[in-house]
Amino acid sequence: MRTEKFVFKKKYGQNFIYDGNLLSAIVSDAKITPETEVLEIGPGEGTLTKKLCAAAKRVVAYEIDRQLQAPLGALQSEFSNLEVIFQDALKTPTEEIEKNFSGDYVVVANLPYYITSPLIFKFLASRASWLTVMVQKEVAQRFLAKPNSKDYGIPTVMINYRANVEYLRTVGRKMFTPQPNVDSALIRIVKDETKPKAKDEKFFTSLVKAAFGARRKTLLNNLLSLNISKEKILSALNKCSIAPSSRAEQLSVLDFISLSNSLN
Ligand code: SAM
Repeated sequence: MRTEKFVFKKKYGQNFIYDGNLLSAIVSDAKITPETEVLEIGPGEGTLTKKLCAAAKRVVAYEIDRQLQAPLGALQSEFSNLEVIFQDALKTPTEEIEKNFSGDYVVVANLPYYITSPLIFKFLASRASWLTVMVQKEVAQRFLAKPNSKDYGIPTVMINYRANVEYLRTVGRKMFTPQPNVDSALIRIVKDETKPKAKDEKFFTSLVKAAFGARRKTLLNNLLSLNISKEKILSALNKCSIAPSSRAEQLSVLDFISLSNSLN
């Protein structure tokens, strides 16, 4: 399967997996059944794609790098349930990607590190029911961080606002070719529509970003950047039983929702 002449492109986050046991474990962790339709982002040389095709009903794979046409074309000839589309998955509108699926689908990917978060947040806002994705271990730790820890920040609040995150396995750097400087983790992100929602989600997002603006500043001082009067902020904080001297990392997702609803 390995194309010896292929030159890995750092700019596309190309760190491929060739270990058969690991690839099988990813497919098993992703809970793929013969009824599942899968969107794979970045199939690379198609090692994971091949296993997904054997387990799923259908696989649609978006790959940015046309130099991977030879191995992926060969895989398409082997599996009639595979469609490879050479397009940027981040830039392609979600509605266009979703035209490939008649109903429910899941995302499975060894994500390119340079756009991990934008891709995750793009598909959190899509029709996909869950994502099983390989990310840098540090990113997984940030998503799973608890309040009052150094890893707790904007990504933690924003992902836990919409979804539940599960840590599936650590994957050491040695499992990738070429070897990156960091270890990875496979995580599952399951959207949860029953979670409480802010009245105005755009404002909620601005509030979370402002609250974490400068780590050394108090919550009150960071919130002043929202151009809301100090009196109004103090009154909202008081209503939500949050001390003005608190730091953003002390607030739970529910605290952020209450504060957002009180301020707006
Ligand atoms: N799935 C393969 C594997 O596990 O061996 C490759 C994973 S590699 C970490 C990421 C893949 O995503 C590369 O093939 C890269 O070319 C592709 N890629 C990077 N940016 C992309 C984008 N914006 N849209 C689609 N594919 C992208």
